[in-house]
Amino acid sequence: MMASDILNSISSISDLFIGENTTYNVIAGPCSAETEKQTIETAIELQKIGVKVFRAGLWKPRTRPNVFEGVGNKGLQWLREVKQLTGMQLATEVATREHVAAALDSGVDIVWIGARTCTNPFAVQEIADVLRNYPETTVLVKNPVNPDIELWIGALQRIANSGINRIGAIHRGFSSYGNHIYRNTPQWRIAIELHRRLPNLSILCDPSHMGGSRDLITPLSQQSLDMGFNGLFIEVHCNPEKALSDSEQQITPAELKSLLNTLIIRRKQQSTDNLQSLRLQIDQCDNELIEILSKRMAISREIGTFKKEHDMQIVQTDRYDEILRRRVAQAQEMEMSSTFIKSIMSVIHEESVRQQLDILNNQ
Ligand code: PEP
Ligand code: MN
Repeated sequence: MMASDILNSISSISDLFIGENTTYNVIAGPCSAETEKQTIETAIELQKIGVKVFRAGLWKPRTRPNVFEGVGNKGLQWLREVKQLTGMQLATEVATREHVAAALDSGVDIVWIGARTCTNPFAVQEIADVLRNYPETTVLVKNPVNPDIELWIGALQRIANSGINRIGAIHRGFSSYGNHIYRNTPQWRIAIELHRRLPNLSILCDPSHMGGSRDLITPLSQQSLDMGFNGLFIEVHCNPEKALSDSEQQITPAELKSLLNTLIIRRKQQSTDNLQSLRLQIDQCDNELIEILSKRMAISREIGTFKKEHDMQIVQTDRYDEILRRRVAQAQEMEMSSTFIKSIMSVIHEESVRQQLDILNNQ
């Protein structure tokens, strides 16, 4: 069976919705369960604002050693108390077969596969194998740390192959070298492509790990809902400044409450004549774009033939440089972003070079 066949038959995770009229999921809780008091205090505050699913990490995949790496099995007892006291569903991260068995034997309802684990097919398969014994579990798969959609889909497929049918994805952004605004760059197009390929799969956004800082939680959450994500996976701690992991990105339960009150939920679809006519115009523009690109490629191939006949190198940096400068200036005059035009021109140029190399080698 194709990945898409299996994954499209999975059920959505819509029953985790928070509140009566809300159409998105909220999973919230501390990065790590640290103490019994901190875990329970945070959970009680979250339950008061209507959160139905409590997250807390027990086994923490930290980048460097010799720091807090989670309380491990000891925290399972605290999670059980959270369930008894609040009735919330429990979610925790699993990275090995032992974690899966320990968590699910302890009444955890939802497990998630972290970004580091998702990169490793052996680890994901090991988790999937144990999950066969717990078919009722809901499993959420974070994107791998590297921007590889196939690896992400592969992990989802391994879980689906093991008989789990309540599966969701979590978009938490991708690692890159150097300092950036975001701790993990969103690269939204990868999540959008995942949604295109697997339209029935629920995708949550994790603005905490994506942004890496409190002040980015609101804009990232709003942006993800505007793009049609199915909910949020957020780190909340009763005392974020004192958190033993990810202190800068955790918010208080009160801050989560005001975030949820400020988020604007937009309609999924609105089919009015006006929108219809604008969409027709867009279709027309796209048709023209494709035609013009095909014309451009044909000319480019003619240039390729000329270069071959005259023994010229394919890439002429001066010419490419001139094209870029002229198009960017033109774009600016037409009030378009220069980065946007630069990236479009570079993809077009890359394809032209590919076409010309093809002529050089094959005709
Ligand atoms: C987490 O959610 O606590 C976590 C470790 O996230 P990630 O796998 O996205 O780094
Ligand atoms: Mn964290």
